[in-house]
Amino acid sequence: MIKENLALVQSYINESINNCKRNAEDVTLVAVSKTKPISDVLEAYNAGIRDFGENKVQELVDKYEALPKDIRWHMIGHLQTNKVKYIVDKVYLIHSVDSYHLAEVISKEAEKKNVSVDILIEVNVADEETKFGTTDDDLYNLVMMVSKLPRINIKGLMTVAPYVSDPELNRPIFKKLRQLSVDISMKNIDNVSMDILSMGMSGDYRVAIEEGAMYVRVGTSIFGERNYSI
Ligand SMILES: *Cc1c(COP(=O)(O)O)cnc(C)c1O
Repeated sequence: MIKENLALVQSYINESINNCKRNAEDVTLVAVSKTKPISDVLEAYNAGIRDFGENKVQELVDKYEALPKDIRWHMIGHLQTNKVKYIVDKVYLIHSVDSYHLAEVISKEAEKKNVSVDILIEVNVADEETKFGTTDDDLYNLVMMVSKLPRINIKGLMTVAPYVSDPELNRPIFKKLRQLSVDISMKNIDNVSMDILSMGMSGDYRVAIEEGAMYVRVGTSIFGERNYSI
């Protein structure tokens, strides 16, 4: 099933890329494998996927140890500062940095392990109370402060849009994230690039691609519904 689901998701992605005349290389599918077993990840790996997203540190570490080393692991969930040390040398990109304190800890742990870490700043564009992420208003200050920390590179922005029945409802949110990234890149801050926009999930990745997404994070449409009760 996973192979077939992937083929379908990839065909929709290609269709959206063609519709808006973007380059196929500019959009990367991150397969969100949280809660799913190693065997599922392997099935997607064997179908050619190399980018996987997880939202829990322990699960990411367990899968990192068990799976091929050419996988690029994306940390997409809220990250507790006391757990940063377990993943700084294992992640390809942390999508979910939303406070200066968290960035400081990442920077310190990266120094200890002698690595540098690429991150995105998570923005709560819809300003939902239940979501993590900095607000639009605080974004610029946060980027300025984080950009001065050693061993941490800001590569762009990420948002988690609301769960909606009609993906068109999230189009303004994706537009807004893109606009924020353009605004910031025009300020030419040292050590900050705004090359990456991480936005779009199972329900709305096609709209996100039309609005400039570089990484789409898709779980359910690839691996099926998650069961949190087991
Ligand atoms: C779970 C999750 C996803 C994937 O969601 P689906 O609706 O299953 O595609 C994407 N991004 C984040 C941050 C997530 O936590």
